[in-house]
Amino acid sequence: MATVEATKDSTQQVSRHQEVGHKSLLQSDALYQYILETSVYPREPEPMRELREITAKHPWNLMTTSADEGQFLHLLLKLINAKNTMEIGVYTGYSLLSTALALPDDGKILAMDINRENYELGLPVIQKAGVAHKIDFREGPALPVLDQMLENKEMHGSFDFIFVDADKDNYLNYHKRLIDLVKIGGVIGYDNTLWNGSVVAPPDAPMRKYVRYYRDFVIELNKALAADPRIEISQIPVGDGITLCRRII
Ligand code: SAM
Ligand code: CA
Repeated sequence: MATVEATKDSTQQVSRHQEVGHKSLLQSDALYQYILETSVYPREPEPMRELREITAKHPWNLMTTSADEGQFLHLLLKLINAKNTMEIGVYTGYSLLSTALALPDDGKILAMDINRENYELGLPVIQKAGVAHKIDFREGPALPVLDQMLENKEMHGSFDFIFVDADKDNYLNYHKRLIDLVKIGGVIGYDNTLWNGSVVAPPDAPMRKYVRYYRDFVIELNKALAADPRIEISQIPVGDGITLCRRII
């Protein structure tokens, strides 16, 4: 009964996961819905709920971070006491807001995206939540910004946490640079490393065009991260898969 009510409620709030288009890779939809209804939605901060609902109405909502992953990131940032962070790939800002709410008042997020318009869709909610002062948004491709930062030795090893959720064909290029920008003991999170489950699909399996295009890049990234002696890793099946990398040398 409670579940039926909660389901009805969440349908009204445009929050059933199938409807926001971001499907967990968990084999049972019922279990995923159970996680959302039991542990995620009841604890989701109001501004995040508001931003999730705004984003659900946007045509590209498939790109958003799911609510359970947002909760995971939020907790992770608190567990590692993150203060200076970076995000590559903002979209409307769900993971950004989850980060901003987790950081102390003097925490910082360098946030990059080639599209400012989508960021501005979520910005009023971020402002209302009182955390906009933590965000330094840069419009444009991330790679040149990283290269510029690397020229400054003071930036080396300066980030506690970096979330990468952008162009998958550049993840290895990002990794080459981020490994020097994250501090030893700091964490880089690469998102979508299970890439819609396509990493285990036979090459001739039917796939959406964009899934097929990025698939080989994600597979190469996963191999490279697993073989990289500079990091400890854990690939976690939350959302579309996130690989956490802790820099050790
Ligand atoms: N983290 C976001 C969230 O929680 O909603 C989702 C990010 S979405 C999956 C990917 C984003 O990466 C898009 O907004 C896209 O504009 C951005 N992007 C694509 N190529 C990029 C690049 N070269 N540099 C920076 N951002 C890029
Ligand atoms: Ca993602």
